[in-house]
Amino acid sequence: MAQTSLESLIFDNRFTNSLPADPNDAVVPRQVHGAAFSRVKPKATSSPSVVATSQEVLDLLGIDAADAASDRFAKVFSGNELLDGMDPFAMAYAGHQFGNFAGQLGDGRAIGLGEVKLADGSHQMLQLKGAGPTPYSRRADGLAVLRSSIREFLCSEAMYHLGVPTTRALSLIRTGDEVMRDMLYDGHPALEPGAVVCRVAPTFIRFGNFELFSSRGELDELRALTAFTITTEFPDIAAAHDDPTSPEAVAAFFAEVCRRTATMVVHWMRVGFVHGVMNTDNMSILGLTIDYGPYGWLEDFDPGWTPNTTDASHKRYRYGTQPQIAQWNLVQLANALYPMVDAVEPLQDALEAYAETFEPEWAAMMAGKLGLRAWIAETDDQLASDLFAMLALTETDMTIFYRRLADVSVAADVDRSLAIDTELADAFYLPDELTDEVRGKITDWLDAYCARVRADGTSDADRRTAMNLVNPKFVLRNYLAQVAIDKAEAGDDSLVVELLEVMRSPYDEQPGNEYFAERRPEWARTKVGCSMLSCSS
Ligand code: AMP
Ligand code: MG
Repeated sequence: MAQTSLESLIFDNRFTNSLPADPNDAVVPRQVHGAAFSRVKPKATSSPSVVATSQEVLDLLGIDAADAASDRFAKVFSGNELLDGMDPFAMAYAGHQFGNFAGQLGDGRAIGLGEVKLADGSHQMLQLKGAGPTPYSRRADGLAVLRSSIREFLCSEAMYHLGVPTTRALSLIRTGDEVMRDMLYDGHPALEPGAVVCRVAPTFIRFGNFELFSSRGELDELRALTAFTITTEFPDIAAAHDDPTSPEAVAAFFAEVCRRTATMVVHWMRVGFVHGVMNTDNMSILGLTIDYGPYGWLEDFDPGWTPNTTDASHKRYRYGTQPQIAQWNLVQLANALYPMVDAVEPLQDALEAYAETFEPEWAAMMAGKLGLRAWIAETDDQLASDLFAMLALTETDMTIFYRRLADVSVAADVDRSLAIDTELADAFYLPDELTDEVRGKITDWLDAYCARVRADGTSDADRRTAMNLVNPKFVLRNYLAQVAIDKAEAGDDSLVVELLEVMRSPYDEQPGNEYFAERRPEWARTKVGCSMLSCSS
């Protein structure tokens, strides 16, 4: 029989070949010392069936369409069979959760399968989420339910197509087994369908991997992990230093993580994404969005919003605080790297790279969203703060507002208030709140904005084209994912596949798909899964 494209995948497992392994193979919850990972086999499932695959990730890995539809694909990417060269394992890491150091966490329900080496020499790690218990599962079962797996699968691909740095998702597979969850943590456990997502990224190393070794004083392991990370993922830094764990190399590495993290968060702010659980164990060392749990998308523009009910009282991880939280998390990473640098100053200097990246990229991002040629801080900082205050006057859909702002002509001597009832009308959730006073303030801002654009001399047509490349028409609205989940839980996966297709071209007009670009309907305002989510998954 001819070799399929699955058998042709070449595995080069640098992580498990290079770093210290846990010598104990018992899959019981325990503290693992002196090891970067534990080898562990995925759990067999009763009847795996593919719900959806990502065409772009199949292409990236070189898996044929026919093989993606095969029984073998469903078995391999649900953890029932291994391909030659796979070396399954769970990573050890720690983390700061909601501001406090939580000690060892680790991959409690993620199992790395191995690193695929691509034709260009780059590597992609394959990782199953929800494939059974590991030594890091603590009191939980290592499984994932269909609803959270749909959310992770769709959102990672939606983010990729939006141009946001992210881990990817190859496949979403129903396991055929049921999983017990108390969705709202209110004493009502119920059985739900189980699923496994195969995630893909160059590496899944997090800030927390460094924190684990550092917090325990396991400095040889800390050095080994750092040398490995820099050599494999930051080759320019490795090439510039004889020793990848020298103070200079570590500081350069940290500065680069700061830059990438800043870039990622600027993108989140651009598209209105709220991660929901920015614990340091959920921060990728590559500056990729990772771990799609109780995330959400801003509907009405509200910097104080978080979808995560587990964080409802303090709202630590609300939309507007994400830039500061990312920086706080970077400080925890700096503390973890400190033993190799042995001085505060180089790390403090490197941390500056965060603000030095964030500020200009934020300004460029806002200039893009508003269709300005460049950000002129003296005038435009005020324009932005007036905009944010204006958007909060009455519930205003962030995505629709920016998209439709591109349609508002900046011509002089026009009654700009008309735009409130025409181009911008769909952005307002509560038209009754559009009192004369509110209309007056919106009109004032629009006048100021239009005058600013006229000073740039950009034509309406050119501005519209430019704005529509950075202001998406389609984002994975919270309620849309929930409608797809409700259907899938009733046995119909079609909306999952359809949403994936729509989210592949978020900046295109897509005539006929307007339904997916509408503001949240009123019935979804307080529905679980639409406006609020717990960590239960
Ligand atoms: P999260 O908040 O999802 O990032 O998870 C925090 C920690 O809990 C990580 O170590 C996860 O692997 C672990 N975890 C979350 N859910 C489960 C589960 N169902 N089974 C085992 N471990 C889990
Ligand atoms: Mg996590």
